[in-house]
Parts: sequence; C-alpha cells; structure tokens
Amino acid sequence: MTPEEVAALLAYAGELDPRTANTDEEEARAQLRRWCELLQDVPAVAVEGWDAAAVVRRHIASSPWPIIAADVTRPWAAHRRALLARHTDPRPAVDPDDDRAYRDAIRAQRAAVATGQAAPNSTRQLTGGPAASVAARLGRVLPAAAAEQLAAYRPMRAAREAEAAAGRPDALAVACDWCHAPAGEPCRRRTLAPGAQAGTWSRRRTVHPTRTDKAAARRQESAA
Ligand SMILES: [Zn+2]
Repeated sequence: MTPEEVAALLAYAGELDPRTANTDEEEARAQLRRWCELLQDVPAVAVEGWDAAAVVRRHIASSPWPIIAADVTRPWAAHRRALLARHTDPRPAVDPDDDRAYRDAIRAQRAAVATGQAAPNSTRQLTGGPAASVAARLGRVLPAAAAEQLAAYRPMRAAREAEAAAGRPDALAVACDWCHAPAGEPCRRRTLAPGAQAGTWSRRRTVHPTRTDKAAARRQESAA
C-alpha cells in the first residue's frame, strides 16, 4: 500500500472505531509511520477478494481489541500463502533454451501472484475456458462445457460468472452490509423452517441489492 492508501485505511478504521483515531498529532504521525512500514508489502486490493478495508471492517466488527497493523498483515500473509500454494508455474512465453530469461519469467509470474496482482495458475492451460476477463476476475479456469454442466449444482458460482460476463460488478467481492455475509460468501437468511435450530442460516441464491450497489461503488472507486 502506498502511504496515501495506508492513511485512507487508518482514517476508515478511525471512523469505525474511534479508539483507533489519534487526537494527538504526534501520536497520529507515529501511528501512520508504523502502519506504512508494516503495510508496504500489503496491497489495498488484490485478486481473489483481498480487500484491506474489508479486513479492517471485519476485525472491528468481531474483535474487542483496537486494530493494529498486524491485524491486516497476518490475514494478507495467509491469503498470499493460499494463492502461492495453488500456483503451478505455467510455462512462460519465452524460449525455454534461454535459461536466464526462462527463470526470470517464472520468477516474475510468482512475484505477480505473491503480490496479489495475478491470480494463481492452478491448472495446466486448458482450451475453451471462459473469456480471459471473466477468468481473471474469478481467479480460476474451467472449460466452458464443464462449467455449463456444473452450473446447475453451483448456482452461486454460475450467477457470479454471468454477472462477470455481463460486465457487472462482482457482488461477492465485498461483504454484505445487510446480512453480514463476508466477502466471497453468498448472502444468507435466517432459517425459519419448523424444527430448524434457532440462529441457523441458509444460503440465498441471490445477493442482497445493497451488496450489488456496494460492489458497483467499490469498482467505481477503484476505477477513479
Ligand atoms: Zn446479504
């Protein structure tokens, strides 16, 4: 994150949890320096739903402790590990006999995944997958025919792909303020079926409209 992004993140945290906001100017400057130092390798947003602001919001919503920079760096480290664990070094488009260029290209691909700029490539390249723009936003590649057959069993994923293909924002990339479903998880509603345990939730097939609006706003923000 750039110092500007860190400052914005801190301002956001201070808004959600006033204990985080420093009224003392000297202390506020020191806090910003600390966060900038610790978050320099953490992206504000990255592939597969990484969103530092969402991490801050989740922490404040779920923890009694004031947020510290490590509450953002730790989830990022886990997200990054998960990305790298699924990356399988696709063959780069360079002459494999050019040893040095080849290794540099592999290294660059890994660095792009490790910094959240590129989705991990977890399969050997398959033909007939979804459009590159769709695959890039969903972070995985599945042949179109297989995806079609699976669509009936994965209504949420199918809906997400349809949204992406239509160029609409991916609502699941953000958390839902209505039902508090975290980013990446479908919206939910309380199960009211007789005999159901109190407080159980069932997944909704559609997302709450406010969530779509939020995703659209977020995309506009990041495009601006
Ligand atoms: Zn919802």
